[in-house]
Amino acid sequence: MRTVYVDNAATTAMSDRAIEAMKPYLKSVYGNPSSLHTVGQEAKEALEAAREKIAKCINCTPREIYFTSGGSEADNQAIRSAALNGAMKGKKHIVSTAFEHHAVLHTLKKLEKEGFEVTYLDVHSNGLVTAAEVSSAIRSDTALVTVMFANNEVGTIQPVAEIGKICRERGVIFHTDAVQAVGHIPVDVAAQNIDMLSLSAHKFHGAKGVGALYVKRGIPLRTFVEGGAQERGKRAGTENLAGIASMAAALEEACECMDDDSQKLIKLRDKLINGLLKIPHSKLNGDLSSRLPGNVNVCFEGIEGESLLLLLDAKGICASSGSACTSGSLDPSHVLLALGLPHEVAHGSLRLSLSTENTEDDVDVILRETPAIVEYLRNISPVWEELEKGLRPHLI
Ligand SMILES: *Cc1c(COP(=O)(O)O)cnc(C)c1O
Repeated sequence: MRTVYVDNAATTAMSDRAIEAMKPYLKSVYGNPSSLHTVGQEAKEALEAAREKIAKCINCTPREIYFTSGGSEADNQAIRSAALNGAMKGKKHIVSTAFEHHAVLHTLKKLEKEGFEVTYLDVHSNGLVTAAEVSSAIRSDTALVTVMFANNEVGTIQPVAEIGKICRERGVIFHTDAVQAVGHIPVDVAAQNIDMLSLSAHKFHGAKGVGALYVKRGIPLRTFVEGGAQERGKRAGTENLAGIASMAAALEEACECMDDDSQKLIKLRDKLINGLLKIPHSKLNGDLSSRLPGNVNVCFEGIEGESLLLLLDAKGICASSGSACTSGSLDPSHVLLALGLPHEVAHGSLRLSLSTENTEDDVDVILRETPAIVEYLRNISPVWEELEKGLRPHLI
C-alpha cells in the first residue's frame, strides 16, 4: 500500500540537497569548530557559511543568528531572555495569544508562576489576531510581545509586520515563533519589524534537532546553556554542524523554490478543501486567504478525530488531528478552542499539511477514502444518532 504522508507540519522528509549538504560533516570534515587547528577551522568555515546563508534567507546579518537544538529551544531562550531582562527594569508583563505552540505557552505558564503577568489575546473565529488588539494590550510595564507568525494547526498567517511596527513604536520587544513560516512564506525580519524569531530545520526539509534564533543587534540575549563560548557565549555546546549545514541548504532551496512551490501547494490545498467540505456538516478552520499554502484543517461533526486518524492510517494516509504535541491526550486542541469552536466540534478535527512531495494522486486518494470513513464513524456514533434524531442541534 502506498503511503500518503500529509503531516508535514509535524515534520518533513529531508530533501536530497539537505542530505548531500550534511554528508561531508559526518565523515570527512569532522573537526570541532572551536579547535584552532586546520581540521577545526575547516569546520568553523562551514559553520559560518551556513550562518550566512540562513541570515540571507530572512534578511539579517550572520551575527544575529544563534544556532539552537530546534524551534522549542529558540522559543524558550527568546521569551525567557526578554522576560528576565524586562524584569530588571520593572517590566513584568507579556502579551501573547491563546493559540501559540506549547513551546511558547508552557514557557509563559512557567513565567507566570515566577511572578510575570501574561495577557493571552483571544483569537478570532477566523484564526487571526489584529495588530490593534496587540496595541491595546501593551502597557507601560510590557516587556515582550510574542505572537506566532503562522499557526501550526490552522495555518493562519498573522499580521506580523503590523504587530512589529506597533511594538517598535511602543518600545516593546517583539518575538515571533516563525517555525511554520520560514521556508514556506516570505519572511524578512527587517521589513517585518521583528526583534526575535525562532525557526526549525525539520519543518522545511532539513534535519531534526536543529534550529536557530534570530536576535536583532542591540537586543540583549541571555544564556541558558552554560559551558563553552560557542554562539558568542549565548549557547554553549559543540555545534551540530551536519544538521546546521542541512538547515542552510534546505532553507536556501526552500526560498529559491518558494513561488513555484506555493502555487503548486495552493492548488492541491484548495482541491482538498473543496472536496472535504462536500461532506455534510463539515467546516474549514482558519481563514482561507491568510493561510499557509500547505495547510488544510477541517472539522466533521459527530466523530472523534482520533478514530478518523486511525482509519485513515489503515488506508495509508498519515494525517493529524492537530498538534503532534497534544496527541495522546484526550483534550481537544487548544488552538481550535481558542478559535471559539465548541468542544464537541473541536474533537472532530483533521489537519492535512502538504509538502511539495505530495501529488494530485495523493489528494485524490484522500478525497476517495475520507468521506466513507466519516460516514462509517458517524453510523456508529451515539452523538451522531442524537444529532440526526434532532435530540441535539447541529453545530456545523
Ligand atoms: C514544530 C514547532 C515548534 C517546535 O520546533 P522543534 O524544532 O520541533 O522544537 C515550535 N513552534 C511551532 C509553531 C512549530 O510548528
